[in-house]
Amino acid sequence: MDVRQLPAANHQMLKFIVTGTFPAFMNSIRRIILGSVPTIAIDEVIMVENNTAMFDEYIAHRLGLIPLNSDIDDLNFMDACDVCDGVGCNSCTVTLTLTQETDQTSGAIIYSRELLGSDHRIYPVVDEVPIMKMDKDQRLILEAIARFGTGKEHAKWQPVGSIGYQYMPIISIRPGHTFTKDVADSCPRNVFEYDENNQSLNLRNLLDCNLCMECVHSSEEDSISVEGDSSQIIFMLESTGALPVENIVTTASDLLIDGLQSFIEGFQLALEKADNDPSSMRKISSFERIGIND
Ligand code: SF4
Ligand SMILES: [Zn+2]
Repeated sequence: MDVRQLPAANHQMLKFIVTGTFPAFMNSIRRIILGSVPTIAIDEVIMVENNTAMFDEYIAHRLGLIPLNSDIDDLNFMDACDVCDGVGCNSCTVTLTLTQETDQTSGAIIYSRELLGSDHRIYPVVDEVPIMKMDKDQRLILEAIARFGTGKEHAKWQPVGSIGYQYMPIISIRPGHTFTKDVADSCPRNVFEYDENNQSLNLRNLLDCNLCMECVHSSEEDSISVEGDSSQIIFMLESTGALPVENIVTTASDLLIDGLQSFIEGFQLALEKADNDPSSMRKISSFERIGIND
């Protein structure tokens, strides 16, 4: 297997090609990223005062969706915190406060940057996320409790805003055919460059092809063929900003390795049991659970 990184639109995006792989494997990486790579998000809000037009629950929901910097490794998971036994303490939660008041003459828009954390490392990664608009003479005072969680629990803990993969496009332009400019223009991703003199097509951005087949339908039969190579996968993801995008992929890979390791151990144990009692093999494979770490 070989991995090659491609240029991405911004530092929160990552695009790479994996060769010698297969879709199920890349899909398992995608699903682990979505469901199991942990980030920190606001999970509980204590309203001290709110006389704005927005319900408490509405504000709390919006706060939960603001990406917080999660690139730290010394905050326990609350459920597994051995300091507080899952009740919530400084070792597993971080408090952020928001205090806003408008005067008698004008309102204000409240942005994510107004959230101030008890731990300076936990802060909204984007300052300008609008939380709400306050009218004049209103007060909003609250305390928000943030903790580590995973996308399996709630989508607010997913580390990515978008993620996906596609097969590597293989485009063949058959020799001996001429093309009109309409064929090049039919491509929504500008993959072709049209050569007016020779009435031919040249490939410009192969990796931008999304396999939509529009060029095949708008050209003469058998003049262009487009296929996807399932052994070469173009993988793309965009971080919410909570974690560096490279860390998301390496953490997901580590989790996959841990899961497989624990599967192997569980399976070997099952085989050993079956060796000692051959009649139990069917029972073990059918009814006994093999524990795999999350
Ligand atoms: S399959 Fe779609 S995206 Fe790819 S080259 Fe043809 S028209 Fe463009
Ligand atoms: Zn704790």
